[in-house]
Formats: sequence, structure tokens, C-alpha cells
Amino acid sequence: MRTPLVLEIKGNSLDDGPGIRSVVFFKGCPLSCVWCHNPESMKLSAELAYDARACIDCGTCVSTCQPGAISKSNPFFIDRARCTLCFECVEVCPANGLTRVGKPMSVEQIVSQVKKDKPFFANSGGGVTLSGGEPTLHMEFVSQLLRQLKQEGIHTLLETCGHFHFDNFATQMLPYLDCIYFDLKIYDQDSHKNYCGQANTLILGNFAQLHRRIQQSNAENGHQVTLLPRVPLIPNITDNDENLHAIAQFLAGLGVKRAAQLSYNPLWHEKTRKIGAHNPYQAQDVMHQWLSKDREQHCKQVFIEQGIEVIH
Ligand code: SF4
Ligand code: SF4
Repeated sequence: MRTPLVLEIKGNSLDDGPGIRSVVFFKGCPLSCVWCHNPESMKLSAELAYDARACIDCGTCVSTCQPGAISKSNPFFIDRARCTLCFECVEVCPANGLTRVGKPMSVEQIVSQVKKDKPFFANSGGGVTLSGGEPTLHMEFVSQLLRQLKQEGIHTLLETCGHFHFDNFATQMLPYLDCIYFDLKIYDQDSHKNYCGQANTLILGNFAQLHRRIQQSNAENGHQVTLLPRVPLIPNITDNDENLHAIAQFLAGLGVKRAAQLSYNPLWHEKTRKIGAHNPYQAQDVMHQWLSKDREQHCKQVFIEQGIEVIH
């Protein structure tokens, strides 16, 4: 079993499910959404991040780097083509100007860390959220993690892009999940491929299949699973009436009564710069602005008209 890289385990989160939660962010995603607010989670491999605001300009990393990849005269600071990702500069940096993005963690290490927050989970109705990146990329590992979390009596929630092998998911992960936040971004096939790097046939099919499976199993036994579709509102990409209407119709056709719409967060640009990635959408003014309350209300209304309650 391959050990995945973890970006971080964030404790005391109030934004990633019910109650107080610890969120495990895995690295690697099968999609490449142009607005991804965790761009450092896209690649499976470890990366080097540079934070110019934290750097105290001591020059230690320049003299440490054997391949000569770091230079103060380089406007990007790091020549990524030369960097061998040895992370020696990270070891010597006194100010967290340079950091390694993605560290391997075993199932036991993750469980041992999140277990410390069990009193908070118990008092708030919280638990552990698996996020990313895309946790289902690491199906076997995450299956073992979920089993151990359930043995500890911890509530489990998965945030997923829905691009996974259904049968593997149904046998390895679903039995150990209490809640699933399932992102549906763009209904049109070509547009989804253009903005997210993959067609959405598998994602839509998985959602429909999962909705039916969970409805059936919730009716038959005591293990109640919550499935919540979530639509990120991205200016000029997902927030148009045509897309929202198509997604709402798809959900209404399945009998889904409740969905979430996620407000656009423009703070991803800084993260993209730190890992030296280039995204042509960064040049668009609209990608630097929060969505207006009026626009959000309008998007909500499109769903309400299809009989779908919108929660945040
Ligand atoms: S990770 Fe290694 S090769 Fe890359 S910049 Fe740092 S010291 Fe140089
Ligand atoms: S070692 Fe760290 S603080 Fe010093 S110049 Fe390099 S990035 Fe900046």
C-alpha cells in the first residue's frame, strides 16, 4: 500500500462539517480545476513553497542549495527547473520562508494525532473530515484510516470530487463513512473538461448511484449516511444560470431535496505563487473578487425554484 502525502491536519475547524472537526488534507487530485483554492494539493508529489513575506533575506538557503537553484536576483527566487527537491534549504531556513508541501504519514500517525481532539468532537458533535486534494485517490490507505477512526467511535466525513471507481468506493470506504460532501461543479461535459481537466460522466454517474445506494441502505439499516451535493460558485464559470439550472434539474430528477452552494474564495492566488505554479486565470480581475451577496442570492434562487433547499 502506497503511503500518501498529507498537506496538514487542521484542528478546531468549524467549516468542514458538523461540530468541531480535525481535517486531514491529502495531496493529489484527479481533477485540475482552474479555481482550486488548494492548488498545493493538486500534485501527488511533494513540492517546495516559498513565502516572500516570511523570508528575512538572510541568504542561508542560497549558499546551501547545491544545484544553485536559489538566487535573490531571480524574480521567482527559485529556478524550479534546477531544483531537485532535496529540501535542504527548508532545513536551514530560520523563518519558514521555505517549506516542504506534503509529508508522508502513516494511518497510525494520523489516528494518534486526531484522537487528541476526541473530547472536542464529543462535546460538539464533530469528528474527522478527510479532504484534499482527493482522498479517494488513496482508497486502500483511507479505508484503513476510516476503519480505525470508527473503532475509536469518531464521526467521519469525506469531501470528494466524485471521480472514483464506484465499486471500490462502495466496499472500501462507504461502510465507514457517516457523511459525504460530494462536489458537482459543471454540468456541461465539454465545459467540465475545459475547466476541470476531466469529463464529468463518471462523477455524475457516481453521484446518482451513490444517492440511490445510500437511500436504500438508510431505509434498511441503522447506519445512516448523509450525502450532500455541493456546488462551488465560481464567477463566470459555474455561477451562470444555465449551469446552475442544469445541476438543479439533475438533482431534482434524482429526488435530492438539499444542496450546498459554496462561496467563491479568491485567496488561492497567493498559494499558487508560493509553489511557483502558473495559472492563466490569475490574470482575470473577476477571479480576484468575492462574489456579491446579490449574486449569491440569485444562484440560491435557481435551486429553490427546482425545489432544492440551499444550505451553506
Ligand atoms: S529543495 Fe534542494 S535543490 Fe531545491 S531549492 Fe531547496 S536546496 Fe535547492
Ligand atoms: S533561508 Fe529562509 S529566510 Fe533566509 S533567505 Fe532563504 S527563504 Fe529567506
